[in-house]
Amino acid sequence: TRQILLHERPNGLPDKNTFAFKHIEIDSPAEGEVLLQMIYISVDPYMRGRMDDRESYVPPFPLHKPIAGGAIAKVLESRDDSLKEGDYVTGNLPWQQYVNVSASDVRKVQAEAAPVSAYLSAVGMPGLTAYFGTLSIGQPKQGETFVISGGAGAVGSLAGQIAKMQGARVVGIAGTDEKLDYMKSIGFDEVINYKTEDLTKAIKRTCPDKVDVYFDNVGGEMSDIVLDHLNKFARVVQCGAISTYNDPDNYGPRVQFKLIKSSALMKGFIIGDYADEFEEATKQLAAWVASGDLQYEETILTGFDRIPEAFIGLFTGRNTGKLLVDVSE
Ligand code: NDP
Repeated sequence: TRQILLHERPNGLPDKNTFAFKHIEIDSPAEGEVLLQMIYISVDPYMRGRMDDRESYVPPFPLHKPIAGGAIAKVLESRDDSLKEGDYVTGNLPWQQYVNVSASDVRKVQAEAAPVSAYLSAVGMPGLTAYFGTLSIGQPKQGETFVISGGAGAVGSLAGQIAKMQGARVVGIAGTDEKLDYMKSIGFDEVINYKTEDLTKAIKRTCPDKVDVYFDNVGGEMSDIVLDHLNKFARVVQCGAISTYNDPDNYGPRVQFKLIKSSALMKGFIIGDYADEFEEATKQLAAWVASGDLQYEETILTGFDRIPEAFIGLFTGRNTGKLLVDVSE
């Protein structure tokens, strides 16, 4: 089977030298283990942080070992009573075509309830992030203005729709006109192309009553501008800062006076903070998906070899909705 290792720590944007492919032999599963075939690999922005050798909320990836992240796999052989051949499972799994893992390290997904890829997008980690970031922290109310950066991405596209369900006016920011069309198609009220428009003017145009909730996926200079337009008692959901992940100086917005003058609340979070509530939230997300209230999009590249390319694509804006790699062939 083939695997992808972290070959060298990237300096800035990862490139081909960041990754190395390797062939290994694998044995039959031992007692308590399952042999998995990887079906979908999720590439996620937080994984960039793990490629650096510095302390964070998850430890760095070791060099010359397989990179690991969210994935959906199919059980080919089971030596544990909890899983049987043909089951689909999810977990934190190595970038490897076939792997033996302990059955307790993966969770079965209900393949009849939703397409299995959705467990990596709308009813998986991005869905939960959008759900708790919007409902627990942002708390948008009827008629309030909810601005979301990274608005056409996996988390952003879902967060905007959840804010709409609360009656907010949703303004999405993204980097291509196709993404603007997509955000409109899922009900966003206003959209901004940050690459072609002057952001200050665009915020003034789309937020005449200023910003009540800013769901921030991007950070950096973009947030510096949005935070200048906060309403009194605004809430800032600090979900991500992708514009800074490849920047060693980690330029962030200058927040102090912006928060003071608007009496705003800014709160960071990692999705694991809400682990106790995952089960209930997942049910709600699945119900919204089933009823059509929550729409989701996936950008899927095909082929195990394309995982590095997909990962790099997160930082060049290649995806609308969740970026996944189909490695089932
Ligand atoms: P996305 O699907 O949103 O993919 C990343 C997108 O970010 C790209 O498509 C691109 O869209 C945009 N982007 C990339 N670089 C820049 C840049 N320099 N400036 C502006 N936009 C940029 O990813 P996710 O939905 O998975 O994640 C979104 C954010 O949420 C990330 O910051 C991530 O780290 C964070 N996150 C946080 C979690 C938590 O627990 N706190 C959990 C999950 C995600 P465009 O074309 O618009 O530029």
